[in-house]
Amino acid sequence: MAKIGVFCDFDGTITESDNIINIMKHFAPPQWEGIKNQVLNQEISIKEGVGKMFSLLPSNLKGDLTDFILENAKIRDGFQLFADYLAQENIPLYIVSGGIDFFVTPVLEKYGPFKAVFCNSSDFSGDKIKILWPHSCDEKCENNCGCCKPSIMRRLEDEDTLKVVIGDSVTDLEAAKQADFVIARDLLLEKSKEMNLNHNSFETFYDCIEVIKKLNEVRV
Ligand code: MG
Ligand code: ZN
Repeated sequence: MAKIGVFCDFDGTITESDNIINIMKHFAPPQWEGIKNQVLNQEISIKEGVGKMFSLLPSNLKGDLTDFILENAKIRDGFQLFADYLAQENIPLYIVSGGIDFFVTPVLEKYGPFKAVFCNSSDFSGDKIKILWPHSCDEKCENNCGCCKPSIMRRLEDEDTLKVVIGDSVTDLEAAKQADFVIARDLLLEKSKEMNLNHNSFETFYDCIEVIKKLNEVRV
């Protein structure tokens, strides 16, 4: 029996909105917006932009930031059932996130365990927050992603596995191009249509369960 592997984004996918943006809106001095715009205009990489934004925040905010996210992050409907369904079917669920460990890990804690969680990490030992990049781009990616989703997929790659990518944004696009099937919303949905990728749209994780069920039937 062929296998399925699911690679799922975190911000804007598992959570309904982007946690880095929410943190910056709430805690950062106004210059974070300029950095965000430079990223959106592709003047600087995501990695450089995220690093610069967090370097605006003092390290002693750590507890406040984590509390803020735990109180405000809204999990998309059906996620627990989705995680349970995949576990029951022995389908590995890899979380691949451009978010940061200090909020990704506590938010996900009660829904796991997952096959693996890949995200950026953080150093609160200096005056300002420093972001660390344990999953940087391999030699085949030149996007300076920060947490490089296509590199992670290549590392875990297995010819027999039907790779499913779930995501919402352009930050998932390179991963989506490498996938056998994409489950998309928002900008990633538009891009998937434009590029004729094999895809379905989703609004909740109940939708994702239905898609995986269909793929699973075909593969058996
Ligand atoms: Mg996202
Ligand atoms: Zn990359």
